Amino acid sequence: MPTPVSHVFIHHTETPDQCHNETACVEAVRSVQDFHMDGRHWNDIGYNYLIGGDDRIYEGRGWYTVGAHTLGMNSRSVAISLIGNYESVAPPKQMLDLVQKWVECAVEKGVVSGLYQLHGHRDQTCTSCPGQHLYDIIKSWNKEDLT
Ligand SMILES: [Zn+2]
Repeated sequence: MPTPVSHVFIHHTETPDQCHNETACVEAVRSVQDFHMDGRHWNDIGYNYLIGGDDRIYEGRGWYTVGAHTLGMNSRSVAISLIGNYESVAPPKQMLDLVQKWVECAVEKGVVSGLYQLHGHRDQTCTSCPGQHLYDIIKSWNKEDLT
């Protein structure tokens, strides 16, 4: 994928729901990967990275491989997905802190342009992703910190 890209997309997995330890989070990442590869017939998990409730970041396709996460934007963005469903609850603060650190790291590495725009999946296509609570939170970042 040509870098730097200027768009970052935030997703939630919806299912599986939140995981709270490494064993459960590894299993959650595998189940998403199985769904994307066997259910959707993609060649790998769709997201570039995922974040678990165990406060770890899991590598999906990594920084430099075009993902399958946001139709029409895959080759021009990177995406991270928070494991869980954030339609009616907010993610724990540690997960949100990790999202911000991950974005900072992407900028430092030159994968993402310093003038990037941060979006929720629903900004690009008709979906509830990344859930109302998570969406409201990232939109508040957008105004204050990210442009
Ligand atoms: Zn999504």
